[in-house]
Amino acid sequence: MIHSLRGFRDILPPDSERFTAIEAAAREVFSLYGYHEIRIPTLEARELFVKSTGDTTDIVQKEMYAFTDQGGREIAARPEGTPGVVRAYIENNLAQSGGNGKFFYIGSMFRAERPQAGRYREFEQIGAECIGAHSPFADAESISLLMEILSKAGVSGCLAELNSLGCAECRAAYRAELLAYLKANTAALCPACQARLERNPLRALDCKLDGPRLALAAPCVKLCPNCLDHFSRVQELLSSSNAQFRINKSLVRGLDYYTRTVFEVKTGALGSQDAIAGGGRYDDLVKSMSGPDAPAVGWALGVDRLALLTKDAAATPAATQVFVICAQPAGVEASAKAFALLGELRAAGIRTDFSDFGLSLKSQLRSADKSGASLALILGEEEVKNSVYTLKFLKEKKDQRTVPAAGITPVIRAALSQ
Ligand code: AMP
Repeated sequence: MIHSLRGFRDILPPDSERFTAIEAAAREVFSLYGYHEIRIPTLEARELFVKSTGDTTDIVQKEMYAFTDQGGREIAARPEGTPGVVRAYIENNLAQSGGNGKFFYIGSMFRAERPQAGRYREFEQIGAECIGAHSPFADAESISLLMEILSKAGVSGCLAELNSLGCAECRAAYRAELLAYLKANTAALCPACQARLERNPLRALDCKLDGPRLALAAPCVKLCPNCLDHFSRVQELLSSSNAQFRINKSLVRGLDYYTRTVFEVKTGALGSQDAIAGGGRYDDLVKSMSGPDAPAVGWALGVDRLALLTKDAAATPAATQVFVICAQPAGVEASAKAFALLGELRAAGIRTDFSDFGLSLKSQLRSADKSGASLALILGEEEVKNSVYTLKFLKEKKDQRTVPAAGITPVIRAALSQ
């Protein structure tokens, strides 16, 4: 017996239906906000993530599924979506194509993290990227979009935590101040944070091990007047929308490319895996990847965690409506007619199923009950001879009647709406 890999899992019904419902809610909101879907490859050149996500980040340094392919190329399974979207934006000249630069993606990401509840090695993200907009309206719209999707997916009362890391200049000054603080506290740093202290001091605040403790006394970002103005506008705009937020001065996010606004949505309902979504502005990334000067803002939300959060909500999988049964003894003609009937009803948009026309009537009726169908259409030699079906109500009254085989669809529709 071959098992699935550690951290990789099967998503079975009804969980799979919960995923589909979340994706459908997101698609609906995306279309209201003028976002268009982009489908990017699962595998990319390893260098893409090293250059954009950053080689001092855990997801690139420790968690990336990277390998050398048959042609000797260094490949990685995407650990996040933003680098691929930015590459696609540059490679396809999307800045020139006149579109609004608002993209969403839905797909699997891969990180070799230690698996536990809510943390997997393959997990699904829904992500949004708005490329080419520098104004605070774009930040506020992006955050409102995220909160709207969470609410549409059935998670109410979410709170976004917000901070600003400032522009390259604010960040440089902050980096120096933070580095001095961390150097004075090296004993409190885990070995990984000590090793990358000089290269990426901000990571220490985002570290799962020592981040929360260090954040208590760490210096905060001092914003230049322009960045301060931008951040104040974002807050004003969000206050006038329905999005609930609060400022968290020690929120830095773990990736290299963030500038100005960063945000995260957390929940108390998922134990230690409390982050549902996170994102921020990345004004310099597109340019640093040899693209145009296109400031941008985006986020990603974890569908697996959202599905855990909505587990108690009534899942509404579309149950079978009609079950087709062959009464015994069913000859070749009766079972062929029953099979054709499945096609006729499905073509009319009626969810129709069957078990095995060769089984006993009792066994087929048992399957019909299990399927949740409210109607069964039974067809045997007698029915074929008289061009009729036996229509059986499987729910309350459990009565049955004979109906003509010709023009069955409206009869079924009427019976379903009873
Ligand atoms: P990140 O790209 O790290 O900012 O993650 C964005 C969101 O993806 C998080 O808030 C989580 O909901 C989800 N996520 C990240 N890593 C995992 C994982 N290993 N398993 C499940 N969900 C994850």
